[in-house]
Amino acid sequence: MAQYRGRFAPSATGPLHLGSIFAALVSYIHAKHHHGEWLIRIDDLDENRCKAIHAESILECLDAFGFKSSENVRFQTHRISNYTCALSALEAAGRLYSCDCSRKSLPRGPYPGNCRHRIGHALIEEHAVRIDTDGIDLNIHDLFTPTQGIGPPGDFVVKRRDGLFAYQLACAIDEHLDQITHVIRGIDLLQSTPMQRFIAKHLGYKSPTYGHFPVLVGADGAKLSKQTFAAPVDWSQPGHSFSTIARLLLLNDTPSHADSAEIWLEFFLSLDNFIPIITKVSEANTLSI
Ligand code: GLU
Repeated sequence: MAQYRGRFAPSATGPLHLGSIFAALVSYIHAKHHHGEWLIRIDDLDENRCKAIHAESILECLDAFGFKSSENVRFQTHRISNYTCALSALEAAGRLYSCDCSRKSLPRGPYPGNCRHRIGHALIEEHAVRIDTDGIDLNIHDLFTPTQGIGPPGDFVVKRRDGLFAYQLACAIDEHLDQITHVIRGIDLLQSTPMQRFIAKHLGYKSPTYGHFPVLVGADGAKLSKQTFAAPVDWSQPGHSFSTIARLLLLNDTPSHADSAEIWLEFFLSLDNFIPIITKVSEANTLSI
């Protein structure tokens, strides 16, 4: 097993956009520079938002861009029994409680703890499940970004009222199952990191090392996102997307737009200073396209 195992974990909620390709590229190059393995995981738990057709298109797109998973692609929906076992372990440790607060009744920000009186009681089937975050560690060593100022998340939901496992829980378990050593992802997920580390700690897992890099934003300053229907990348011209990324990173001597995905990936891999460049751009939280 390689010393380094990284991953890219897109949600199957829509086609990949330039921000997703940037995220795939940074995690991929980081893994390859460390002679590591790089895995693709499809986050498809939310059956209201995730569709098999999106998962297929994401995988075809990653293939067209030359991103090959070192092992079989993982799907969160294949791991329900793992999440169920982990939830039982957290319940046995007395960390979980049922919550029937409606979203509307709650203020913005961390959960105020209305249902904490249920800590230590049996879980109630139709309620959401929260985890008692007493003692959560907000200090993260990040490879790229200074991480001071992460606010406490409050007792967050690990299983939703509709029965779906929450991303924070699933992701922490996935990193463990896949023996991920490095989570290299966008800074929009920084606030999730203490939650995922907290779950890992209480399940006795070793946490990976984290690196959060800037997210791409459009002309309106908003993060490119599948939810806001950011334009899908054109798979037939990977060089087009790669050259935009190279321009954002102020790289010189780049291949031409028309060159193949393989030539572009070789180019990025040949840059000895790729990681310092990512560290440098991480001084800002965003990169405008
Ligand atoms: N699937 C989630 C997303 O696309 C999380 C990814 C991650 O943890 O890297 O936002």
